[in-house]
Formats: sequence, structure tokens, C-alpha cells
Amino acid sequence: MDSDLLLPRPEGLYCPAGDFYIDPLYPVHRAVVTHAHGDHARSGSGHYDVALAGVGLMRERLGAGSSIDAHAYGERFAMGDTVISLHPSGHVLGAAQIRIEGAGKVAVVSGDYKRDPDPTCAPFEPVPCDIFVTESTFGLPVYRWPHMSSVIDDMLAWLDECKAQNVPAVLFCYALGKAQRILAELARHTTRTVFLHGAMLRLVDVYREAGIRMLPTAPVSESARGRDFAGELIMAPPSAAGSPWMKRFSRASTGFASGWMRIRGARRRRGYDRGFVVSDHADWPGLVQSVRDSQAKRIYVTHGDGEALIRYLRDNGHDARPLRELGGAMPDERSSEEGD
Ligand SMILES: [Zn+2]
Ligand SMILES: [Zn+2]
Repeated sequence: MDSDLLLPRPEGLYCPAGDFYIDPLYPVHRAVVTHAHGDHARSGSGHYDVALAGVGLMRERLGAGSSIDAHAYGERFAMGDTVISLHPSGHVLGAAQIRIEGAGKVAVVSGDYKRDPDPTCAPFEPVPCDIFVTESTFGLPVYRWPHMSSVIDDMLAWLDECKAQNVPAVLFCYALGKAQRILAELARHTTRTVFLHGAMLRLVDVYREAGIRMLPTAPVSESARGRDFAGELIMAPPSAAGSPWMKRFSRASTGFASGWMRIRGARRRRGYDRGFVVSDHADWPGLVQSVRDSQAKRIYVTHGDGEALIRYLRDNGHDARPLRELGGAMPDERSSEEGD
């Protein structure tokens, strides 16, 4: 039974054979956490197992007092009647797929993942298994990511225009993962200093402490009052858009970096001047490729409605199902607002 290894419960996805939860929504005795985004890493559990590469971010998110064991990618450790190992998912720094071996089978919970190159984290590692749990945040064929190099070219052209027009360029993106990836990509082309919203400062520092090379940064808040930031690049989380914080950037040109920018009209609806298609999730070809790479006999789809992906996989000979078919009690659907 697949449910020996994975069983949805109201607290989150539970592993009966190993007696632990994966990315629980509520406090539990023992949690294995795939990555540090707020919808996956929640404080209050008795003990956490995480990937070593992401332990700095986890401490930041879960609180310094949390009980955390950090494991190198590929290291095997026992949990109940199972053997666990963590493997890179390519999503953000330290993000992991969870491989669970037990009850005569291997299950892989891939968490959030992407297949595109990212200078801030280890690339996704295909892990052969019997049961593969995949996200489907962007599970429609329309979602295909452009090459990052062409997105960065567009971004640099936008920055040049802002400089020529003497206006600030305010780029909105998620504070964990996306901001650092863009700072690292831009560092291949320029040495300019980027000004950061307060919500990004600590997380950028954690990446820097992990040895990730990024553009130099400075806090917006420490800049002299009345400074107009003309021609400068400022990065801020989407929650700052339309807030009083924006008042200091009069005449700013605004941009948003997200997978959702792939859809025509999404930028205008959200009121940004520019949209940049940058996602830390797999696009449609990436989802399909990862299912194939897993060689799994059974695929469970979660995180997004998954209907189109399930239909496509079934049409192509895969046994694909929504995660709820594992039985148990599904937890509330987590929001995927962070890191898309
Ligand atoms: Zn995530
Ligand atoms: Zn997520």
C-alpha cells in the first residue's frame, strides 16, 4: 500500500512507516522540511530534519531555538522503519526532495522544484523511485520559461532606460530565492549596487554567508532621507507594492519577476510597468520531464489543481492521480504565493 509510506493528515503529509511529517502546516513531534518558504517551513514542531545547505535559512525561519538536524544531500538516516535521504530540488538554496525507503518501496516527495539552472542552489537531481509526488504550481502547457539569459537581457535594457529617464527601477519579487537568484544572475553582467527593502536584507545575508556570489546591496532605509534613487535598481517583496513605503520613489518604473508574468494581461492586471518571467518552479516541460525521469510506477500530484497534468500523464501511459487518492485527510491547500 502506498499509504504505508505516505498518508495525508490534517497536519500535513504523514509517513506512517517512519512516523514523521513532511512540511507540516501545524506543530507535530517530528518534521522533515523540504525548504524554507513560509508555506513549507513552519515553526513549533518538536524536531526538524533538513538539508545542510539550507540550514541557515531554516534557522532564520523556524527560530534559533528549534531542534534541527541538518543532513548533507544523499546522506542516509533512519526514521522509524524507513531510511531517508535528501536530494537537491533546484528550487531555492538548500531545497530538498525527500527520498523515503521502506515497506519494500521507494517514495520521493519532490517538494517545490525546478529544472532551469540557478546559480544560487544545487541543480535538481532525478531520483528513481516507485512513487513520485510532484507539485503542479504551473501545471498547464502555456507555462514555458524563457532562457534566463534573455530575461536578464530584458532586465538590463529596462535598467538602462530607467537610467536614461532618470527614474528609479523598482523590481518586485519574492524575498527568499527569487531576489537572490536575480542578484546572482545580474552579478555576471554588472557591478552596480542594488538597494533592498528591509524584508530582503537578512535573507540576502544568509545566502552570502553560504558563499553565493551576488551584486553588492545596501538597505534603502539607511539612505539619506529625500534621496530620489534616480536611475537605481531597488528590489522589494510584492507586499510593498502600493504601500506607503513606495512613496519615496516618485516616478518609479515598476517591474515584477514571477512565473505568472508568462500570462498576457497578468502584468497589467497587477499594475506593473514591466513583467519578467522568472520562476523557481518547474514549467510544464519540466514537470513532464521530471515525472519521466523518476521512472515511478505511480505519480501523485499536489500543489496546484493538477487536473491538466494528471490528464496528460494518463494519456501518455502514466498512473497519475491527485494526492487525495492516497486516502487519509487532506490538509488545507497551502498557498503558493511565496516563491512562484
Ligand atoms: Zn517554495
Ligand atoms: Zn510551495
